[in-house]
Amino acid sequence: CFEALHGALGDCSCSVDTIDYFNNVKIFPRIQSLVSKDYFRFYKVNLKKECPFWADDSRCAMKYCHIKKCSKESVPGYANGYDNDHIDETPATKYTKEAQSECGSDADHDPDLSYLNMTISAASQYEIAKWKAYDDALENFCENDDRNVDAEYVDLSLNPERYTGYKGSSAHRIWRSIYQENCFRPKLNPYESFPYVLSSDLSNMCLEKRVFYRAVSGLHTSINIHLCSKYLLSEKTVGFAAPPEGEWGPNLEEFQRRFDPSQTFGEGPNWLKNLYFVYLLEMRALAKAGPYLEREEYFTGNPIEDEETRHAIRNMLGVIYTFPDHFNESSMFNGGSQAATLKNEFREHFWNISRIMDCVGCDKCKLWGKLQTQGLGTALKILFSGRWDSSDGDPEQGKLPLRHKSQRLQRTEIVALFNAFARLSNSIRELENFRIMLSANKESE
Ligand code: FAD
Repeated sequence: CFEALHGALGDCSCSVDTIDYFNNVKIFPRIQSLVSKDYFRFYKVNLKKECPFWADDSRCAMKYCHIKKCSKESVPGYANGYDNDHIDETPATKYTKEAQSECGSDADHDPDLSYLNMTISAASQYEIAKWKAYDDALENFCENDDRNVDAEYVDLSLNPERYTGYKGSSAHRIWRSIYQENCFRPKLNPYESFPYVLSSDLSNMCLEKRVFYRAVSGLHTSINIHLCSKYLLSEKTVGFAAPPEGEWGPNLEEFQRRFDPSQTFGEGPNWLKNLYFVYLLEMRALAKAGPYLEREEYFTGNPIEDEETRHAIRNMLGVIYTFPDHFNESSMFNGGSQAATLKNEFREHFWNISRIMDCVGCDKCKLWGKLQTQGLGTALKILFSGRWDSSDGDPEQGKLPLRHKSQRLQRTEIVALFNAFARLSNSIRELENFRIMLSANKESE
């Protein structure tokens, strides 16, 4: 599968080899160190949401699907308002509040009008909340369930993404539904069997639809590379009453089964290229939102750690800015009202995919599936919601002008965005390991 994995990626001017070098040497070490920091380690997620599309597949009983949760109190900075608006208060919102308090100072206060003002404000608060929900829904690409009462913190470092044993009809129903119902119905495999979509049919689709399919397929590739690189190799007994412990490591045979052209109707190398493609997409989103992300606080309540996190962010973004061949999102959705309709469909299809994640029958897979979908959804929002298209804030002042108050990401979106990118980066790095294993195998033959 590596022989076909060279040269142009398609749909952009970048090549696989350029990304390999850039990721493995420059990005990989930085992003892995970044996501190990406290701010990025804790992800708030609701794993109890009902599947909105079909009756529950019965909860997964496989032990490697189990999630270790953590109490709110064990989350660094939680006691200092980590979970409240404080943490979501970006320089942009702070600035808005400052500006508002200046405008509404006591000097302007007219006691005769105050009753009227209060009545209006009580009535309009409800309206404003409705408008806000409407505006958010229009620009968001996925559901954000961190405000849900059932949402809980998960320490990602205690729950690594790896082989869980989740497979068969439940897993296939998810992937099938994602490809067949939500990828703009590309020409389907007429035999209703694998593979769901043939890459040769993609050339008949418009760029936007192809980008959508490739991004989802790239995510699928990344998930499957992780389960191959952290495969359950054996189980060892650790004590009389204790359950056996798994030993995890790369499984070259499993990797070849999933990506070798001879075992995948020739599709394997295309699926691998889609991984590079979605990597480019997310990296471009990070570059685009970079000036905003550089000014976030990354608050956890530990000033030293927080400063280190900000420094690591600036350092990584500085490297990302130097990438020579960024994905060019401005070539998409051009063409009047039709383009606007297409963009809306694009957003709705992705929204559906984020909801399908609630149907995954293995909690560990659901956790990482939801995180990576939210990360990709956040990247799409940055690239296509139109709110991030000009960035003329004054970095020297450390705050954004008022009209940028809409450029705001929730804490969970930021955590998901960086962790999702870290997963893709890790997958590309793992490919290098499989490449080495494969050539060592050939030499010994
Ligand atoms: P699948 O991966 O289930 O794929 C089904 C079919 O889709 C394939 O036969 C092929 O025709 C096509 N296909 C495969 N790859 C691609 C691609 N990249 N692009 C386009 N088409 C493709 N398992 C774990 O062990 N650990 C996990 O963390 C994990 N997370 C998951 C998260 C989600 C959201 C889902 C839906 C599943 C997850 N799984 C996980 C299960 C895993 O992805 C596979 O479904 C499972 O291992 C069965 O694999 P399979 O060989 O039958 O093919």
